[in-house]
Amino acid sequence: MRTEIIAVGSELLLGQIVNSNAQFLSQQLAELGLNVYYHTVVGDNPARLEQAIEIAQKRSNVIIFTGGLGPTKDDLTKETVSKAVGKTLNFDQHALQSIEQYFTQTKRVMSENNKKQALVIDGSYILRNDYGMAPGMAFQVNEITYMLLPGPPSELRPMFNKYGIEYFHEKLGLQDRLTSRVLRFFGIGESQLETDIQDLIDQQTNPTIAPLAADGEVTLRLTAKHKDEKVANKLLDEIENKINERVGVFFYGYEQTTIVNELKNILMEKKKTIAAAESLTGGMFSEHITALEGAGIIFNGSIVGYTNDVKHRILQVDQHILETYGAVSEQCANEMAKQIRKLTGSDIGISFTGVAGPTTQENKPVGTVFIGISLSDDYTKVYNLNLAGSRNGIRLKTVKYGCHYLVK
Ligand code: ATP
Ligand code: MG
Repeated sequence: MRTEIIAVGSELLLGQIVNSNAQFLSQQLAELGLNVYYHTVVGDNPARLEQAIEIAQKRSNVIIFTGGLGPTKDDLTKETVSKAVGKTLNFDQHALQSIEQYFTQTKRVMSENNKKQALVIDGSYILRNDYGMAPGMAFQVNEITYMLLPGPPSELRPMFNKYGIEYFHEKLGLQDRLTSRVLRFFGIGESQLETDIQDLIDQQTNPTIAPLAADGEVTLRLTAKHKDEKVANKLLDEIENKINERVGVFFYGYEQTTIVNELKNILMEKKKTIAAAESLTGGMFSEHITALEGAGIIFNGSIVGYTNDVKHRILQVDQHILETYGAVSEQCANEMAKQIRKLTGSDIGISFTGVAGPTTQENKPVGTVFIGISLSDDYTKVYNLNLAGSRNGIRLKTVKYGCHYLVK
């Protein structure tokens, strides 16, 4: 099915609003298995809209319009489309009643042009508008399927999800629906993860497995094809289990979550508090945590101990440690974590010290990082990493690794 979306509205062409309806519809249509080949944007101008329709009719089997269903003079999508397909516009009684009812209820006088919103193209299947007045509509002429949807996303999205998808399923005889799930991994490189599950990737046709790496993390998008979402989810569960048997220790969450967010959730669940002593990260851990809602419950605070002087005087790291091993050392990370836990009375102290670059420090190469985690006077563990990347990349990865060790 060659599908085209025509968004109508001069404000789109003027750059006053972004064509988010096209983005939304494209995502939904991809899940339905309909191929979107074109996005067209046209102003509130009947002649140019007519041209856009003519072009679309030559190259597409499904044409979806958004915008211009409202009561004002510039709303001309229905008029133009009906002309292009040779159909009349009639009043839809149900839509007319609900518009009249709205005006009676709100004790406002209905102007004649409001009635215009109840006009529908003859023979259309009506897509009810549960969040506004203008209904959407769909119909087929000469083997082309047309769908008209309102402009406001708050009306278009529920209308499409509730009635539009249903229509396509019925009229286009769509068998399958795509259901996908994103798995997020940290602490394993993309190539390693791919190697570990290569045979699964190769064998799988339904669901498919697509790896993607970004910001030191790897995600797997699993996509199942089945008309019944429950069955699709079962297929996804099965493959997810197989994947996690291999690389489950690196898995940390689904969809749009972040590792910092997962850490916050775990600490909230376990009712634990945390504080940080940050050197190379310069407050980045604190920034990431405090950006999240509810951080106040689990995060006590942090000290950015950047110079050795602050590490010693404020964080109370032994002068002897700084002189003997340096600030970028297991011993220093150990002390920083322990001290920040004690100083703040937190359940967990975490510390970050290392060389972000671009030059070496204390003769230690760029990317040398120590992360300390202190849980009690008897338990402090230090992790040593050798990271690659830019200065900021190293700092960000350090923060993520800190969260990763705590989430594990
Ligand atoms: P209304 O009854 O509100 O007039 P309508 O169906 O006539 O709805 P338009 O007048 O074209 O739609 O647009 C109304 C509003 O909807 C716009 O001001 C804009 O905020 C939003 N909108 C329209 N088209 C889009 C689009 N393609 N993407 C995102 N938002 C849009
Ligand atoms: Mg309008």
